Amino acid sequence: MLKIGSHVSFSDKGLLTAAKEAVSYGSSSFMIYTGAPQNTRRKPVETLYIEEGRELMVQAGIDEIVVHAPYIINLGSYKEDTYELAVRFLQEEIRRTHAIGVRNIVLHPGAYTEKDAEFGINRIAEGLNEVLDGVGETDVNIALETMAGKGTEIGRTFEEIAVIMDKVHKNERLTVCMDTCHMNDAGYDLIGDLDGVLEQFDRIVGLDRVAVVHINDTKNPRGAAKDRHAPVGAGWLGFETINAVVHHEALAGRPFILETPWIGKDAKNQRPMYEAEIALLRGDAMDRFGDQFFDGIERLHHFFGKQDIDPRTFVLSVWDVLKNDAKAKKADPREPMDRLYDLVMEHQVLPDLTEEEINQRITGWFAGKQLLVNA
Ligand SMILES: [Zn+2]
Repeated sequence: MLKIGSHVSFSDKGLLTAAKEAVSYGSSSFMIYTGAPQNTRRKPVETLYIEEGRELMVQAGIDEIVVHAPYIINLGSYKEDTYELAVRFLQEEIRRTHAIGVRNIVLHPGAYTEKDAEFGINRIAEGLNEVLDGVGETDVNIALETMAGKGTEIGRTFEEIAVIMDKVHKNERLTVCMDTCHMNDAGYDLIGDLDGVLEQFDRIVGLDRVAVVHINDTKNPRGAAKDRHAPVGAGWLGFETINAVVHHEALAGRPFILETPWIGKDAKNQRPMYEAEIALLRGDAMDRFGDQFFDGIERLHHFFGKQDIDPRTFVLSVWDVLKNDAKAKKADPREPMDRLYDLVMEHQVLPDLTEEEINQRITGWFAGKQLLVNA
């Protein structure tokens, strides 16, 4: 079975809360932070409802999940205190990950800040050696994430990941987390040459190292070095490319994790679009949502078609304006999904549906008319 899910909350009752949220989206995998990503405050392992969460996971058929290390860890830092904290805290996170029963913890390799890339790479490798030497009692792998290349981030090229791995003694404990948004932003052509990019990765790092794939769309064109996620279909990659990643045989068996942002007006009562994104990518939206869902999507095709609005052309042209026309952006800063939602509301195309239900159908509309043919 395809392992697919999203980032979910680990607050309150820890693993139980996380598993419940994941099940509500129809997930077959999920990802958690063991606490706030921006600080080091963590609850004791005994209070994380691990057994209860595991039980629910078994019932739901979820056998593999992923932990993400917090952003505050920077193994690339030249500052002693930042580096020391990173080593020590990553070790603690690995022990926590082990206690939860998870095999891979995703890590942003690090940033070199005022130094240079060579310094950063060596420092990260030194840090990973230190970290792994101290957690021999666990069987957790560190999944180095492919980065967008924002600021001084290391990991924007496959070569940087490979060099780090070469310098780490126990590198059998290093895996990779691919991120579609980051790879696009770093310059890899997932849209035009997915096979080529994966072959390149295989030559330089080895596809057997890939343990997790983050499936995010992106607000920026290829090579922008930005790292801003968009909902599936609402960005430059588009539904088709992300769907091709999820179903690529070279990545079969890995957990695919959404970290797509929530878009909308009513943050209090409306959930993220994960449920629709998951069902559409897994190809079982009919089982999950029924006929009605497809009727709504068909109505959107009809409505937008009449106005000559094509999903891909519309999304790309809005991002283009927001990026290149400051005046137009100031006049109307709304992102593609907001604009589409407002059009649907204005013309009462889908009356009686909630904001979340409308956005779910817009997500289905992004998937193209082929979706209706297959359903
Ligand atoms: Zn990440």
